Amino acid sequence: HGNHVVVVGGGYGGAVAAKYIRMADPTVKVTLIEQNEYYYSCPLSNPVIIGIRDMEVQKWGYDGLKKHGIDVVIDTVTGIDAGSKTVTTKGGKFKYTKLVLSPGVEFNYAAIPGLTKEIAHTSMPHAWKAGPQTLLLRDKLAAMKDGEPFVMVAPPNPFRCPPGPYERASLVAHYLKKHKPKSKVIILDPKDKFSKMGLFRGGWKELGYEPNYIEWIPAAEGGKVTKVDAATGTVYTDMGEYKSSCINIIPPMTAGSIAVASGLTDKSGWCPVDLKTFESTLAKDVYVIGDSSAAAGLPKSGYAANSEAKVAAAAVVAALQGKPAPMPSYVNTCYSLLAPDYGISVALVSVFEDGKITKKSGGLSPSTASKAHRKQEAFYAESWYQSIMADTFA
Ligand code: FAD
Repeated sequence: HGNHVVVVGGGYGGAVAAKYIRMADPTVKVTLIEQNEYYYSCPLSNPVIIGIRDMEVQKWGYDGLKKHGIDVVIDTVTGIDAGSKTVTTKGGKFKYTKLVLSPGVEFNYAAIPGLTKEIAHTSMPHAWKAGPQTLLLRDKLAAMKDGEPFVMVAPPNPFRCPPGPYERASLVAHYLKKHKPKSKVIILDPKDKFSKMGLFRGGWKELGYEPNYIEWIPAAEGGKVTKVDAATGTVYTDMGEYKSSCINIIPPMTAGSIAVASGLTDKSGWCPVDLKTFESTLAKDVYVIGDSSAAAGLPKSGYAANSEAKVAAAAVVAALQGKPAPMPSYVNTCYSLLAPDYGISVALVSVFEDGKITKKSGGLSPSTASKAHRKQEAFYAESWYQSIMADTFA
């Protein structure tokens, strides 16, 4: 019937939206445009940084999606015109009936004086998009001298993967304890609390990380960074300066640059959407899912992106069939590893109620649990990864 859905971004959000639209209605032509030939998963990339996981198991391709009849185009989207309903790429133009956008995040380097994109790619990596920077940070950690600190600058809210910096700090502490016992992780944080904080800090004590291998400096104690100097490898705060050959700066974030450039963001830097369908409130027939969307009530996680993709896919197919959007529910679980055999999690199930994403159920791992329980959750983290990657790419 001539309907054409274009999906931009083949990650946790976009790949799933493309697949579920085809599964719901195989008569709809779906084109997925992704700039990279291979996708590297951020979830479980922190173990890669400490050398206990191979980057190859983070790597996924698009052949599985082609089997669902999706046209996969490897190209970079350079423009979106919601008026003429056209997506422009480096290599061509695509007319759409509906557009689904899941371009992930962009970094606001300029928010930290002294930091640039160039510096992030060479000397002070964020490793907050899995790929070359993950390996750069891994190599820097391996080369770091025993006694030097691993300096992490944590981002302000909201950001991709709220527990992620603290999972990374935990695993680096695990590595330092074994390989560089005179070193410690220093987390410079512009916040005074963080996701699963009680569970993390309880685990840090239990595993012997805090205070010897992790020092968390919140905003109230001077954690906010004022500038960095890449030439000398120094991070400055109001309270002091931190020097290292291994500095991990995770800058403040916004919606993906194509969403910003296309006028789909508001002053928050994220894309406002109707939470029942994920259709943009700024552009008709454009749906924004994943980290780029301002989805109050859901974290910026891969699992949330997956859930939002299914909500948007159902809404898109319903609209194309002239039906009302179904009533959605949303789900998220985030596992974090504090050591290879020590996992914790947070989970929620929500519904659309009173115009909002409203939590109905959920919770955290127990604050006290046996070693066997924590080990079981570490096992669940891996099985979650295998399941969601099969859902995304197979
Ligand atoms: P992405 O997965 O980043 O996909 C965006 C895609 O769009 C990319 O492939 C990109 O190349 C493409 N793209 C962007 N712009 C363009 C363009 N102009 N043209 C063409 N293509 C474009 N989440 C969890 O649920 N569980 C975890 O355990 C977890 N751990 C994490 C650990 C770390 C260290 C980090 C950094 C993140 C973690 N996350 C986790 C979060 C998760 O990675 C993100 O929330 C998720 O990737 C968001 O999906 P997305 O589709 O919005 O963006």
